[in-house]
Parts: sequence; structure tokens; C-alpha cells
Amino acid sequence: MDIVNLEETRAQEIKPYVYDYTLEDWQEWVKTIGEAGFRAGQIFDWLYVKRVSSFEEMTNLPKSLREKLRQQFDFVTLTEVANYKSQDGTVKFLFELTDKNAIETVIMKHNYGNSVCVTTQVGCRIGCTFCASTLGGLKRNLSPGEIIAQVVKAQQLLDATQERVSSIVIMGIGEPFENYDAMMKFLKVMIHPKGLNIGQRHITVSTSGIVPNIYRFADEDTQINLAISIHAPNDALRSKLMPVNRRYPFADLIEACKYYVAKTGRRITFEYALMGGVNDRPEHAEELAKVLKTFPMAHVNLIPVNFVSERNYVRTPRNDIFTFQRILEKNKINATIRREQGSDIAAACGQLRAKHMESGAR
Ligand code: SF4
Repeated sequence: MDIVNLEETRAQEIKPYVYDYTLEDWQEWVKTIGEAGFRAGQIFDWLYVKRVSSFEEMTNLPKSLREKLRQQFDFVTLTEVANYKSQDGTVKFLFELTDKNAIETVIMKHNYGNSVCVTTQVGCRIGCTFCASTLGGLKRNLSPGEIIAQVVKAQQLLDATQERVSSIVIMGIGEPFENYDAMMKFLKVMIHPKGLNIGQRHITVSTSGIVPNIYRFADEDTQINLAISIHAPNDALRSKLMPVNRRYPFADLIEACKYYVAKTGRRITFEYALMGGVNDRPEHAEELAKVLKTFPMAHVNLIPVNFVSERNYVRTPRNDIFTFQRILEKNKINATIRREQGSDIAAACGQLRAKHMESGAR
């Protein structure tokens, strides 16, 4: 390859994605190229309301503007490698990024609508011992557009049956609070009335406990829900299960959660993955209840852990799950058991990507 071609290839590679921008960013951009301000709204509308897949389809834009867009931005952000449908309606996408890395996105069907679970990083460095997504470490952060495009792709699939994405959970691969700015940009586009217009209260961000960013998020003044992956009722056990606890100890995490509740007036959901014989005993439930009693509106989501072949965790027997739930409820802590979805298509976080990587892909 000669140098000119090499430069061209590089220039192509570094083109930003068309989904990387908020409406305000587009307003800035049209201004800098001397176009009328309303063109920004038109571009945004083509991307998120009409949901086209190419610049050519943006027919109310002048040809010259479409050409500028084509030169400066990449439309293809994600390529669908596979899309698996479960008997319960769950759809799992395996997407390839332009650098050939793979990520997963899931659509879950609920009686209240369609929820999309998005990924924020390629891999994860947090190292939770029950999670397949962290096995290969962190490769890189996703750009805002790579997160946004997951929801657009999910919505495009649902368009065929006139359904819509009604809620979003940021609980896929990665720690969203370690890719904070991209996550916030993603949220801005999701909730924008001229974008996908998803209600803030229908979006949940889940963190393993990156304490400084819990404070930052509390101060953002949004209505977006926060979930904390707590998974243990004390410092020692949490450090064993989640190395992040050594960086941000249990007491600091609880303190940050209290700040969030005081600042926002919103309740927190605590995610608790039950691992047979590890953190699922009645004494663990009692201890957890004691910690969470200090929260006015805590909610615990109990998740029977998925078997990860590289780890030795086993599932908690059904009766023990109910016992755990009863102990929390006896202590006036609202607790639900997460319904398992898509188990016939390896829908748990990281499982498809792990299989894809085993097959030699990145
Ligand atoms: S559970 Fe989430 S934060 Fe923990 S390793 Fe897996 S992807 Fe990362």
C-alpha cells in the first residue's frame, strides 16, 4: 500500500460516527460549514425518528450537504453478525465494531414493553468473579455513537412490528461509570424529545460501585435510575467477589449511595447475584437487611447467578432464593427475583461475545 492510500485508509478509520453527536453538536457543525441551523434538526430527525441507514436517504437535505456528511462521518457504526431469538421473545445481537471487536446487545420483552440492555465497553477491567465479560480484560471504551447505535439497531428491528424501545438498562458488557462522558452523551440523545424520546424514568444505569462517579451522577440532576451491583453484605466478602471493592470500600459505597438518595430523592436498586454457598445464606440476607434498612426506599433485585464455566459458582436452590427474599421482606426491604430471560440463547452478559472470541474473532 503506498503512502497516499495508507493516509486515505487512516483518514477513513478515524472518521467519527454519525451517531456520536447530540442535537447541540449538530447545530454547531452546521454552523461551522455555513448551513442553516434547521438542517441540524433535519439530520437528527433522519437518524432517530425516521431511522434511515444511509445519507442518500436524507432526501430533504441538499445533495451538497449529504456529500459533506458522507465525507466527514461514518454511517456504519455496528455490523450485525448474528441475532438470536429466544422462545421467550428475548433477542440477542452480536455486533461487530469497525475495528472488528465484538459486543452484545439484548432486547427483553416485558409485559410493560421492550427493554434494551446496552454495552458500554469492549470487555471490562472490573474483574467481578462471577462475570464472563471480564475474562479477557478491557479492550477499549465505546464511543457515544457505538452505544447509541445499539438502541437504534434494536429499534429498527422493532419497527418491523410497529413496536418501540420503551426502556433501557445500561447493564451490558462494561462498567458505564468508567466510560462516563460517552455514557452521558448517549443518555442525552436517548432522552431528547427530538431523538428517541425515551422517558428518563425508564432508563437505568448500573454500576459496580465507582464511588466518585456516583457523586457526579447524583449531581447531574436527571431522573435516570441508578442500580448498584452490591452482591455482598459486607466489606470482606465483597472484596472477594468484586475486586473494585478494594478500590472503593463498602462503607464508602454506602455513603455515596446515601448522598445520591438525599440529593435526588430517588430510590436505588441494589443488584444481588446469588451464588450457591457463597453469599446466599440466611445470615447474609440478615446482614444485607441491616445495611439497607438505613435507606428509606431501597429495592433489592435478586439474580440467580448464571453458571460460568471458568468459575466455580453454582446456582442457589430455588427454596433458598425464596428464603433470602423473605428475610429481606421481613425487614421491610422490597425484594424481587429477576426473571430469567433468553437462557436458551446464552443471553447472560458476555456469553455470546466469549463464544465469538473463542471462535478466533476479537
Ligand atoms: S459484572 Fe459488569 S462491572 Fe463486573 S466485570 Fe462484569 S461487566 Fe464488568
